[in-house]
Amino acid sequence: HPDPEYRGRFAPSPTGLLHAGSLTTAVGSYLEARVRGGQWLVRMEDLDPPREVQGAADAILRTLEAFGFEWDGEVVYQSRRHGLYRAALDALRQAGLAYPCTCTRREIAAKARRGVDGWVYPGFCRSGPRNDRPQPAWRVRVPEDPVGFDDRLQGHHAQALSTDVGDFVLQRADGFWAYQLAVVVDDGEQGITDVVRGADLLVSTPRQRWLQICLGLPHPGYCHLPVMVNAAGEKLSKQTLAPAIRPEAAARELVGALTRLGHPPPQGCGTLEEVWQWARSNWCLERVPAGPVMV
Ligand code: GLU
Ligand code: ZN
Repeated sequence: HPDPEYRGRFAPSPTGLLHAGSLTTAVGSYLEARVRGGQWLVRMEDLDPPREVQGAADAILRTLEAFGFEWDGEVVYQSRRHGLYRAALDALRQAGLAYPCTCTRREIAAKARRGVDGWVYPGFCRSGPRNDRPQPAWRVRVPEDPVGFDDRLQGHHAQALSTDVGDFVLQRADGFWAYQLAVVVDDGEQGITDVVRGADLLVSTPRQRWLQICLGLPHPGYCHLPVMVNAAGEKLSKQTLAPAIRPEAAARELVGALTRLGHPPPQGCGTLEEVWQWARSNWCLERVPAGPVMV
């Protein structure tokens, strides 16, 4: 049954070209949105200029076009939305939920333990900044109670944010906005109802659910697609030098992505159009493996 309320999105970071892992994520989120009769948006997460590659944002969009993806509305660029992130931080400050932190990386590393995603911030600045460095980072207070949710593919997932992560950064001391804040503000502002993305981000979702509560935003549904690993068992990423996908071989690359998502197209699907047509009439999220999947 078509669900015109459904709004999904694909949110690449322009830190390199699309690779087999990011293409697979795009395919999964696209098919789910289209099969549900909903909308599919593209958001460029260009928040971290030092890590970005010149021209990558355009190259990603051209590659999506060459594969036949059609997005709804204009592409949104996070680099043009600083005002929204600023307003969200101001609201959290006013509510007493965000505080300035002047700790250096070294001060934290000397005392902290490792959590699920880097150091667990030990809360040094919780009751006031420890020194007067002019440009603090801003952190959000996390709750003692666990934050959990039901993922459509990965099942129930919960974290005790206070021991697994600690009060986490919303704005870095260099002034850049943290992914966690921007993604929550944008999913809220764009009315995203369903997030379909790679399972490497499962570890971030409890933080995002917490920010949604703090900001009074609705919770979207979540579905984390299997992690793609190479033959050595390493997650495919720019860091493990995953090769860029080739738009010239789009039909073959699409068949590969669908196969990894548990939907191997039959032999007869030759052209890109045929593969998409088959995929649209056969897509069923429940058939996707929870992962990891070897590429
Ligand atoms: N920009 C993030 C990435 O490329 C994805 C964010 C998301 O889907 O929530 O890893
Ligand atoms: Zn601090």
